[in-house]
Amino acid sequence: MTQHAPCILLIEDDFQIRRVVRNALERQGMRVEEATACASGLEQAGQVKPELVVLDLGLPDRDGIDFITDFRLWSQAPILILTARFSEAEKILTLDAGADDYLTKPFGIGELLARVRALLRRQASSMEPALVEFGETVVDLSRHQVLRAGAPMHLTATEYRLLAVLIANQGRVMTHQQLVRAAWGNNTQHGSTYLRVYVGRLRQKLERDPARPAHLQTEIGVGYRFVL
Ligand code: CA
Repeated sequence: MTQHAPCILLIEDDFQIRRVVRNALERQGMRVEEATACASGLEQAGQVKPELVVLDLGLPDRDGIDFITDFRLWSQAPILILTARFSEAEKILTLDAGADDYLTKPFGIGELLARVRALLRRQASSMEPALVEFGETVVDLSRHQVLRAGAPMHLTATEYRLLAVLIANQGRVMTHQQLVRAAWGNNTQHGSTYLRVYVGRLRQKLERDPARPAHLQTEIGVGYRFVL
């Protein structure tokens, strides 16, 4: 553990979940502040300037998505959503609003801690490293160069843009819409089918086992996630 104790804001109206999550985070050496509703959560956020927010979507006063929209006006700290709802449409809505990741209740504490650590790591290294290595692949972001097992690997401009945006958002779920926009711009007609083709090509070129990708992972119905 580092000297610095990251401050986590936990916004959740369920007492049991709050207690379990708080205990787990504190055992990891993190500082936990709590709120039980959207309005008090926003107020608390303004005071403590959290490095990460764990946010329940079903809050008594307003929808958690209101928190995301408001918070994103002034903070880029990662937001991890806790949701009891299973709707993929809603997950996509929260990610597009600026949330970084989500867990569906009931979730394991190990899973929660892994997500929190990944998000904090990404935040700490948000000065993109020039070299990213995974499997046999090395991506040199400063030179737009990709090596596979030491040999140059040709990517098309679109494939490279897609890879670069996934790497820049390492650990985070990117929705189909976010990725399509990043690869083809705002006015594109392309949809998630087209995206799937390109992700498939990237896997063919970069993954050891393209059928079981270790780095370019699918979030079914939602999008893709790059993990190191
Ligand atoms: Ca709730």
